[in-house]
Amino acid sequence: MTNNIVVLGAGVSGLTTAYLLSQDPSNKITVLAKHMPGDYDIEYASPWAGANYMPVGKEGSAHHKWELNTWPALKEIAEKYPEAGIHFRGTLIYNRKKDQETDTGKWFSELTQPNPWYKDVVPDFKSIPSDQLAPGVDNGQEFTSVCINTAVYLPWLVGQCLKNGAVFKRAVLKHIADAANAHHTGERADVVINCTGLSSKTLGGVVDDKMYPARGQIVVVRNDPGPMMSTSGTDDGEDEALYIMTRAAGGGTILGGSYQKHNWSGIPDMNLANRIMKRCIDICPSLVKEGQGIEGLDIIRHGVGLRPLREGGTRIEKDKVDGVAIVHNYGHGGFGYQASFGCAYSAVSLVKEILQNKSRAKL
Ligand code: FAD
Repeated sequence: MTNNIVVLGAGVSGLTTAYLLSQDPSNKITVLAKHMPGDYDIEYASPWAGANYMPVGKEGSAHHKWELNTWPALKEIAEKYPEAGIHFRGTLIYNRKKDQETDTGKWFSELTQPNPWYKDVVPDFKSIPSDQLAPGVDNGQEFTSVCINTAVYLPWLVGQCLKNGAVFKRAVLKHIADAANAHHTGERADVVINCTGLSSKTLGGVVDDKMYPARGQIVVVRNDPGPMMSTSGTDDGEDEALYIMTRAAGGGTILGGSYQKHNWSGIPDMNLANRIMKRCIDICPSLVKEGQGIEGLDIIRHGVGLRPLREGGTRIEKDKVDGVAIVHNYGHGGFGYQASFGCAYSAVSLVKEILQNKSRAKL
């Protein structure tokens, strides 16, 4: 028996879900999306991400489980498939207790605590001795993580899906139920997977009021400082962030950032860009030549993306809209890559439940 499946959305959530589903030859998959890898748009979060694996899910939560379950997959891809654009990278994390109550501090509270659950997941985890910490830093840790070149990785995922027979089509849908009529075979889809990120706020049949953006601004440069690093906050503003990561395969270095909730602006703010560059050099002088300031940065581009946050957390659940079976997989905030496989495994098991009920009904 074949299963007709439509995945709506071609960001990291849609592509990872489609990739897993396409490994079963009985699934005939259509990926429908307004934006595809190669596009840069404020409605499309995935290309803007760093992206790296810096866990933020609270211990014992579903979010924790998704991040835990994602590490083995990213590790395996980094080890076996250099063409996917993921590499291992040393990582330094610095925590200041004074950031605890800020938006950025809360976002990173699990990442920056001295004894996090992920210490047993990522390789080489160790605390940085306090005499090696800069003044004002309360604790620090180092470990090995991955950095993903999204401009290589997203097309790699598309390639894996194509190899497994999935069909990609551009479409802009007004209503989630319309996706069921857009399967490439012309037949009706048995199940639609909603991976539309922030657009789930306005998509007909979903209209999720709990969705809101956390605006992230970045500067991409050619300079290569070595390890990745991140802090719990900055002195420049409660919703500003500091992180540095060099992407695999010549993807440049991402300097970040910000975590501006409910801010929808897609235009880079040059004052913020200057603050980002300045504080990255302050914490990591090796970004530029000795004695240089921001004039020593070789800028590729400025960028802005909107992290698709959801009050109450990511939505992975079954639904039925106008008679169409739906599985939602959206609302991944600032962790869409580092939770991508974990979330997709959960979504796929819900798809299987729907398909099993379909086969039972046909018996
Ligand atoms: P999106 O990438 O937004 O994709 C949505 C898809 O749905 C698109 O294809 C879109 O065209 C399609 N779509 C929407 N509505 C419709 C419609 N009506 N009809 C047809 N198609 C539609 N995460 C990490 O794990 N690690 C990081 O280091 C990291 N860094 C980040 C840095 C920045 C600056 C930003 C902005 C984000 C970062 N993230 C990071 C978060 C991550 O980028 C997001 O969680 C993730 O990209 C969300 O992916 P998605 O597939 O759910 O949504």
